[in-house]
Amino acid sequence: MKAQKGGKTAVIGRRQLLKSVGAASLVATCAAPWVARAKAPYELPKLPWPDDALQPMISATTIGFHYGKHHKAYVDTLNKLLADAPDLADLSIEELITATSGNPNRVAIFNNAAQMWNHTFYWNSMRPNGGGKPGPSLLQRIEADFGGWDSFVNEFFKAAQTQFGSGWAWLILDGGKLKVIKTSNADTPIMQDKPPLLTIDVWEHAYYLDYQNRRTDYIKAWLETLANWEFAQQQLDKAKG
Ligand code: MN
Repeated sequence: MKAQKGGKTAVIGRRQLLKSVGAASLVATCAAPWVARAKAPYELPKLPWPDDALQPMISATTIGFHYGKHHKAYVDTLNKLLADAPDLADLSIEELITATSGNPNRVAIFNNAAQMWNHTFYWNSMRPNGGGKPGPSLLQRIEADFGGWDSFVNEFFKAAQTQFGSGWAWLILDGGKLKVIKTSNADTPIMQDKPPLLTIDVWEHAYYLDYQNRRTDYIKAWLETLANWEFAQQQLDKAKG
């Protein structure tokens, strides 16, 4: 009896084990595409360089706060908000931004989703030993669409400098032409299906610890030493399909 009982227990144990293994693989199957498609809950994307890589133009302290506190907070807040919005849970981050843009009932979700996206794009828009002019292909395109390199620099500089309050300046592709625009707060060109090539964050948290009120010095350093033109070229190639 004891042996039978023990045997039965063992069988049940194995069935339970198989059942739990089955459940685990089902979870794994479901989880894989969600990670690949970057759906909620979102993770804070890794920085493309060490936090001190942009010194002295942007300090490790600024990156520590900007990435470790501000960007992380957007991701954490978005995940909390999405827990109460199951209808949005299956969307990619880009779909989520488009779906909530302009909806007065979804302002908080839009703001945090767009800021999560914008910041990831901003980190990639910078690199150590960047800045200056892009490679010949993108340079020619900029010269043609802006009427010269200096005109582009002036336009980008002006957009970043004159954005009143918090926001962003962007190089975008609009109807087959390169343009410079600025956006307020969390607004992003992907709302309008205009592919961005490069962006600079001009919220005060992006530069205040290093430059205080001297936004102009931050923009200058950014253009001269940080702009990641290889990334911009990749975005242009991708946008053309
Ligand atoms: Mn920022």
